[in-house]
Amino acid sequence: MTALETDVVIVGVGSVGSMASWQIASRGLRVIGLDRFSIPGPFSAYAGESRLFRKLYVEGGHYTPLLQRAQDLWRDLEKISGSELLSTTGAVTIYDEHNPGLAPLLAAAQDHGLDYQLLRGDEARAMYPEHVIRDSDVTVFDPEGGYLHPEKAVTAALLEAARLGAKFLGNRKAHSIETYGDRYIVRTDHEEIIASRVVISQGNGAGALCKELGVHLAVRPQILTWFPAVDPSAFCREDMPVFMRRVEEAGRSNPGRFYGFPSADGWTMKVVGSVYLDEVESMEKPLTWDPQFMETIRAWVREFLPGLIPDPVRVATCADGHLPDTTGLFGRFPGMEGVIAAAGFSGHGFKLASALGAIAADLLTDGTTATDVGFMNPARFREGDTRLASLALS
Ligand SMILES: Cc1cc2nc3c(=O)[nH]c(=O)nc-3n(C[C@H](O)[C@H](O)[C@H](O)COP(=O)(O)OP(=O)(O)OC[C@H]3O[C@@H](n4cnc5c(N)ncnc54)[C@H](O)[C@@H]3O)c2cc1C
Repeated sequence: MTALETDVVIVGVGSVGSMASWQIASRGLRVIGLDRFSIPGPFSAYAGESRLFRKLYVEGGHYTPLLQRAQDLWRDLEKISGSELLSTTGAVTIYDEHNPGLAPLLAAAQDHGLDYQLLRGDEARAMYPEHVIRDSDVTVFDPEGGYLHPEKAVTAALLEAARLGAKFLGNRKAHSIETYGDRYIVRTDHEEIIASRVVISQGNGAGALCKELGVHLAVRPQILTWFPAVDPSAFCREDMPVFMRRVEEAGRSNPGRFYGFPSADGWTMKVVGSVYLDEVESMEKPLTWDPQFMETIRAWVREFLPGLIPDPVRVATCADGHLPDTTGLFGRFPGMEGVIAAAGFSGHGFKLASALGAIAADLLTDGTTATDVGFMNPARFREGDTRLASLALS
């Protein structure tokens, strides 16, 4: 078996792993990134053309500094790559006035001095003609929101990392990490790699790592759907704000959340809803599903987006790893001082990936970071810091 040696191994070169590769290589460290699929690959959680970016974060104002850093880094990567990676269309969230999500969203805005516009009734209907706005609805517009182009962004980070000297090894699965003096050995089915530091960014493949922490990582595939517009010129404007809608009123037969993007192809709209397929261990192949799973999304489209034909012309599946508290896991792995773990972003991690990559580089080079990510600390799931001899990765 081949033995390699480097400063940092990155296990899983998807969203966070590609950004960490770029950022760590830019600090002058030697990086080897490895992935169970090709790099970039087909089954990573960023697949599917677009990901929401929001500054007004219903998850809480404690994310604001992280989102600010992420936004700055997406802009840096745009300059490096010369292509648009974050399209700022604005983002509108539509709630029923009694929805409990409304208050934390406005609190996050007020606490951090973020701009927003709150509209209802005819004013909201005039501003967002694509949507059915009921008298009981409130719309909150985030002018800094928009969407990321994930495949382009990951590729841009990988190219820049490679230019800075990072090496990538695709189509090999990492099985374990062992401590080796003050270094680590990462074992794959092809080689062992000795490194001073390791970043584990396995996405939905992090079940074994989470098990070690005593928390279950639920891998819940979702269906992405592209619906054709009756009048694409009116409906699929490139500058149409991305939207999120929460229809969770008591008594609804199909409560849930859905969101959508202006189309990349110019004649469809991508809509994704909080509809999950059966849990899988990890996402390693294309999935099939019962068409029944699409009915909820089609019903929301029929009810709230009348300019779309409620029959999708394109579908895809994609899965993130979900944690019980829906807060991602990011930071030093308890018991392994030189190992940083990133996983469990529970359906909202892509927008943060650029910042998480930079914070991994801060922690590896300076031992600390100025951006607060303490709320994602993996140690919240397992107290104590008993030194671990090894850690299973699959
Ligand atoms: C349908 C859907 C919609 C979403 N929408 C949004 C959104 O609008 N906005 C947003 O911010 N976020 C969104 N997310 C969440 C976001 O896409 C994810 O949180 C993010 O992409 C996860 O990044 P990651 O680096 O953890 O995982 P990934 O990008 O999946 O990277 C993990 C990598 O590790 C590799 N790997 C796993 N195990 C091993 C192993 N043993 N050995 C080697 N390699 C391994 C995998 O092949 C993969 O390439 C969405 C997710 C889904 C599924």
